[in-house]
Amino acid sequence: MRDDAWLRNRMLEIWQIRFMDVPMKNEVKIRFKGKWKTKFGHIRMKNNITEIVVNSLFKHEDVPQYIIDLTIAHELIHYSHGFQSPLERRYHYPHQGGIVRKELKKRGFRDAMQMERKIFRKEWPEIFKRIRS
Ligand SMILES: [Zn+2]
Repeated sequence: MRDDAWLRNRMLEIWQIRFMDVPMKNEVKIRFKGKWKTKFGHIRMKNNITEIVVNSLFKHEDVPQYIIDLTIAHELIHYSHGFQSPLERRYHYPHQGGIVRKELKKRGFRDAMQMERKIFRKEWPEIFKRIRS
């Protein structure tokens, strides 16, 4: 079952496998929240605690797990670049010059990105309609 504990485990696994070079410098929380059609998630830091949020519609088993993995990886890349994290900031803007996409590829998410693009154009509108209620 995809609950917040599962989500946390998934984040720690991805961190261990794909982000070993990135130190976890503060407390990083993660949870499902929101039911968005076009937004996957976000990352915020408040009082030195980082919080990552993943679209709660992704709890549904109809949504492939790599979509969740990609969302987590996307936010961890922001973290590693010093956005919403105590790490040194490496860029002016979080999505400057496609840095997130480039780094997703570098960290082994190339195939997932291609599948995701397909899903979101063709299948997501249907899935969304079915599960948002
Ligand atoms: Zn982003």
